[in-house]
Amino acid sequence: MKDASTLKTSNSWRFTGNELKYVKEVLDSGFGSSTSGNMNQRLERAFAERFGVKYAVTSNSGTSTLHQALVAFGVGPGDEVILPALTVVMCGYAVLHVGAKPIFADVDSKTFLMDPSDVEKKITIKTKAIMPVHMFGQVCNMEAILKIAKNHNLYVIEDCAQCYLGTDSRGRIGGTIGDIGSFSFENSKHLSTGDGGILITNNEVFAERMRKFGGLGFKNIKAENGQVRKNKDVFQDPLYLRHDAFGWNYRLPEVAAAVGLAQVERIDYLVSKRQQIAYKYLEAIERTGCDWLVPQGVPLGAVNSYYTFAVRYEGEERLGISWYEFRRKFMELGGDGIYAALALIYNEPVMQMISGSGRFFHDIEGQGAILKGFVENAQCPVSEKIQKKLMLFTSNQGIEEDMNIQMNALEKAINYFGRR
Ligand SMILES: *Cc1c(COP(=O)(O)O)cnc(C)c1O
Repeated sequence: MKDASTLKTSNSWRFTGNELKYVKEVLDSGFGSSTSGNMNQRLERAFAERFGVKYAVTSNSGTSTLHQALVAFGVGPGDEVILPALTVVMCGYAVLHVGAKPIFADVDSKTFLMDPSDVEKKITIKTKAIMPVHMFGQVCNMEAILKIAKNHNLYVIEDCAQCYLGTDSRGRIGGTIGDIGSFSFENSKHLSTGDGGILITNNEVFAERMRKFGGLGFKNIKAENGQVRKNKDVFQDPLYLRHDAFGWNYRLPEVAAAVGLAQVERIDYLVSKRQQIAYKYLEAIERTGCDWLVPQGVPLGAVNSYYTFAVRYEGEERLGISWYEFRRKFMELGGDGIYAALALIYNEPVMQMISGSGRFFHDIEGQGAILKGFVENAQCPVSEKIQKKLMLFTSNQGIEEDMNIQMNALEKAINYFGRR
């Protein structure tokens, strides 16, 4: 067997802070609390402080968080929630989970993000909330989205799973602009606890509902406090009634929260590393004068947190070089790989199935009958077009040497095709 110290991977650089120390604290305390609170509380306080918000609520995933937010808004059967077509399927799942219909908005061809003018077009009398998703690390046009929300009296849940500390053109941090911000600690994200998530808001009512819903509806749960067992004599009384709200168990394990606390302590560093490599990719594109790789457009004054470096590949039309061919060459030249953008949500077989027959599984009769027909009229031509063109370059190289390998591979690949 290999010594653990030799098992370090290219991802190890992300977990070299207080992670082990805090995990040990949790185990040494037998999953108890110290005077400074348990790990979930400490993580929540640190996160809320860094984002400058009143409340933070931990969760077991960045999908659960979306579910909690929609529940807090009171979204349910008969309602519609508008989200971009170009995002992860989990955004649609969360909407379906509360029995509402996902309605798909198109994206902007320059920013690859939810297009406010298409959002406006898709509003109906049933619309209850908008879910802008800050894809690839960049905050959506929140100015326009908030204006629409205000005019139509809609809630706004920002999905920031891919956007930590990204800001809009007015310098506002993604997640602090709408009613609620949702983050994921899944392992590919800027901050990771293996799996996990967190919600932020300045709204006390929403915070309490989200915490209660994620914590099985215990009546002691408050907006700023997840502590359930307060007074033994009360808690051990046979007449004691515990639950005054409905909920799932979406709690984040203490061991994961310990890792999360250490990650939040280094949040600026972790984000800056991703930005550093993105700036190197940008440099390579600039140096070569390449105009057939079009990077995600960053509005003036905005800051992209670069979960991944996203570009629109126009080499197929311009040079006759296929997406696949460019990717192959990039990797041949030492590049780490290029991801495609995920298929549009409404093109995924699961969405077709639920929308068509109300089934959640192909071999069980309709469990979601009320949700039928939400993909039939889904029309997002820009999303359709650019989804196939997007190239997502990895940005999780922690050390300069690895970043330069990526940058050089990109530069060489551009020159290889561009100079023929
Ligand atoms: C990762 C991700 C999620 C879901 O997060 P999980 O923690 O994996 O459930 C939601 N939205 C976006 C945009 C994501 O990238």
